[in-house]
Amino acid sequence: MDYLPIFADLKQRSVLVVGGGEVAARKVDLLQRSGAEIRIVAQSLFSELEQQWKQERIIWLGTTFDPCQLDEVFLVIAATNESALNDEVLAAADKRRVLANVVDDQLRCSFIFPSIIDRSPLVVAVSSSGKAPVLARLLREKLEALLPISLGKMADLAGRWRSRVKERLKSINDRRRFWEKTFGGYFCTLVANGQSEQAEQHLEQDLCRFAQGKENTEGEIALVGAGPGDVGLLTLRGLQLMQQADVVLYDHLVNNEILNLVRRDAECICVGKRAGAHSVMQEEINRLMLDLAQRGKRVVRLKGGDPFIFGRGGEEIQVAAEAGIPFQVVPGITAAAGAAAYAGIPLTHRDYAQSVILITGHCFPDEHNVDWAYLARSGQTLAIYMGAMKAAAIRQCLIAHGRVAATPVAVISQGTCADQKVYIGTLQQLEKLAQRAALPALLVIGEVVALHHQIAWFGQDKQPARKSRPAVINLA
Ligand code: SAH
Repeated sequence: MDYLPIFADLKQRSVLVVGGGEVAARKVDLLQRSGAEIRIVAQSLFSELEQQWKQERIIWLGTTFDPCQLDEVFLVIAATNESALNDEVLAAADKRRVLANVVDDQLRCSFIFPSIIDRSPLVVAVSSSGKAPVLARLLREKLEALLPISLGKMADLAGRWRSRVKERLKSINDRRRFWEKTFGGYFCTLVANGQSEQAEQHLEQDLCRFAQGKENTEGEIALVGAGPGDVGLLTLRGLQLMQQADVVLYDHLVNNEILNLVRRDAECICVGKRAGAHSVMQEEINRLMLDLAQRGKRVVRLKGGDPFIFGRGGEEIQVAAEAGIPFQVVPGITAAAGAAAYAGIPLTHRDYAQSVILITGHCFPDEHNVDWAYLARSGQTLAIYMGAMKAAAIRQCLIAHGRVAATPVAVISQGTCADQKVYIGTLQQLEKLAQRAALPALLVIGEVVALHHQIAWFGQDKQPARKSRPAVINLA
């Protein structure tokens, strides 16, 4: 280890900053966040620092560095662009056994600043020992995304309960098991949802049970939308839950790249639903989901797109509600939003479509509760899920109820994925387009489809817009 990571308590302790520019101001800001008292030596002060000095939040010792200024401080930061002065500060600090940092000059430092993920009181510090700062920063970004903002609140609450838990649970092993259960359980969901009071009640109940030797076996269910395919479209909340899950029940629509993000030790069960025996399968899925949660597992039910849009998510979560199992729902980007965006088709546009209708192909051709005349109106966009097999019926119905046969349509296959294909034509040609498309495919019908030629961007080379593009099959 080239450096020893330590967390310094700087509250009411002084730190000397030599230099008064923007770089110094950034360090002052960071040091103040930890409660340090700042003394500055500088020719002049950058506006923010000057303001702070006027408000007496920092002490300006003068314009010249003097080694005896180090006698009062625990750390020193040299943030000047005078290399000789920085050297002088470091030499003087070493002589007085004060730790010194010369900003952006690792060789002249007796301590360095790590990248920080701040979920105070929980703080994660990352360093590459000055070898690859960009790598450390990238790692920090990853951790930022993975660690929920609510971690700080969680650590705060746990801190307040620490002594009470110690009083009630005498054995260190019991306490460890209690906190492990707590940090992996429903307590976290409640804190993340801002329900601190309920979280504390939950803690109290769990503690009682634990003290009586009865561990809580309550699981929970999270219904999570995985988005339409591109792994980058998964939400942060969804990812965090996938990282905490004991079991993930997923559909066929969820691809491997997304499943690779599930916590390594979690069990992944495919409860895939393909066309056909749906209703039987659905009951089995419900039963499995409940059974796992009742056995104390954190279950993530991972569904393609958004779980509440043609995903039967509503029914699954009704089952959890009826059984009294704690649950939460994390939305996902639905296929219409994702596939249309990646195909360069705005679903609404002031000049072309004032509304968009999401509809399932199952309505066609003979669903009696559908207002066909309304659906066939121009100036609106239809995004039809599960419609590829029904393309002929859809064409017939819409044209019969008045939609113009020349209305532009798109069939977007495997939208947002690397192998997305966009088939463009007219309503009259819908069936032909759909026959070519690999599943899953979304049908988009409406004047907005014409904009595709101008604003298609995904999977396109960087050439200026051309009439025919490799990923587009144009029958128009
Ligand atoms: N809950 C999902 C929809 C499930 S229904 C969502 O919100 O997106 C399944 C249908 O969604 C498919 O038949 C297809 O019409 C559409 N679909 C899902 N993913 C798609 C994708 N990547 N590209 C195109 N269509 C998709």
